Amino acid sequence: MAERDDLFYKKKNAFDVLSEDEINSAYDYATEYKTFLDEAKTERKAVKFAVKMAEERGFVPYTAGMALSPGAKVYKTVEGKAIMLAVIGNKSLSEGVNIAAAHVDAPRLDLKQVPLFEDTELAYFKTHYYGGIKKYQWVTIPLALHGVVVRRDGTVVDVSIGDMEGDPVFYITDLLPHLDKDQAKKTLSEAFTGEGLNILIGSRPYGEEKDSDRIKHMVLRLLYDRYGIVEEDFLSAELEAVPAGRARDVGLDRSMIGAYGQDDRSCAFAALRAILELESPEKTAVCILTDKEEIGSDGVTGMQSAAFETFMSDLCRTQDVHLHHCFEKSFCLSADVCNAFDPNYAEVSEKSNSAKLNYGLGVLKFTGSRGKSGSSDASAETVGMLRALFEKHGVRWQMAELGKVDQGGGGTVAKYMANRGITTIDAGVPVLSMHAPYEITSKLDCYMTYKAIKAVYCG
Ligand code: MN
Ligand code: MN
Repeated sequence: MAERDDLFYKKKNAFDVLSEDEINSAYDYATEYKTFLDEAKTERKAVKFAVKMAEERGFVPYTAGMALSPGAKVYKTVEGKAIMLAVIGNKSLSEGVNIAAAHVDAPRLDLKQVPLFEDTELAYFKTHYYGGIKKYQWVTIPLALHGVVVRRDGTVVDVSIGDMEGDPVFYITDLLPHLDKDQAKKTLSEAFTGEGLNILIGSRPYGEEKDSDRIKHMVLRLLYDRYGIVEEDFLSAELEAVPAGRARDVGLDRSMIGAYGQDDRSCAFAALRAILELESPEKTAVCILTDKEEIGSDGVTGMQSAAFETFMSDLCRTQDVHLHHCFEKSFCLSADVCNAFDPNYAEVSEKSNSAKLNYGLGVLKFTGSRGKSGSSDASAETVGMLRALFEKHGVRWQMAELGKVDQGGGGTVAKYMANRGITTIDAGVPVLSMHAPYEITSKLDCYMTYKAIKAVYCG
């Protein structure tokens, strides 16, 4: 006769299950992860970081026609904003590959193409937000600026201001409470508009008192001195305003991490770390750090791009395997963050199906909205396979869902992988305040996500 404990499903806090050693490993892992967060404030920087780490571990850039024997480690970047890495396995690609796909873009404020203006002797940059932001969260916080400017002669200049010790930062103002009678009556989306997110960048004039646009003139002079760029060069620039500052431990117990961009760099780092440790996996392991997830995965660097097929069909060709035969035997963990249950906003979540901080990797059988619409909805067998795999590798995990039925919803790259004929499921780190300038995760959950991806690669 089965006992009560055998019959009931009971979730467990990972702190109650893990050994002291493993908890320490998770905290050590978190230290490395925070370095990644600090150095990878944009998708371009994340890819640069990945290339550097990969080359240190013996990965080489893939070139067409390269011979790939088991144990070979290759990578390929896409326009500097996405990267695919592979470690060739002992088995044929006809038996499929194990993929982890995470994204390295994050919500932010992009500068417009003609961004610079002056009003009442203050200079500003105009912005167009990228991804799903709550606009009121982006005012009155220090901002840094990262990106590239392509000059008239075609040379590319890296711009990075606000995250180095001693750098100035930038700022979007808000109304003082003494004068917010009208603002306070508005809805949040009316009170904070996209066109209102203008970044304050200067207040010191240049030239004679009778001149016009003297603040703007000073800004342009400073930019020219430092970067050799002129106003017209903004036309061919990609500059991203992101929260300035470093990743920090959160809580007296240091159990959590607070930082910008943890959606989805928590999973991106986990996937990268896991693949860099592989030597000769049974099946070929593939890690994808993609771009444009936050705006629908379109575009040449997004997960819907043929860049992925090109890379995979190149690998398949070396073994005389048809790409789609490889895909239909493959598995993809769509490694993306999920929503952690927040007691401050309990009303939007259904407790028994929500992910909790410190309960491990969150697995989402489906995402989407209004009746799972727009979701690839993984099969029971896929969840069953993961249960066994995680059991074998000691991965703490939990089921997750994005809020109550009909409360909202969202999507990931899962469906774009699944639509290719690849068995796919979503799983990732539970996050508090997802998409906020400063997001919260748990160290144990981040570490478990790394362990889960390693388990997927090792089988
Ligand atoms: Mn995400
Ligand atoms: Mn997101």
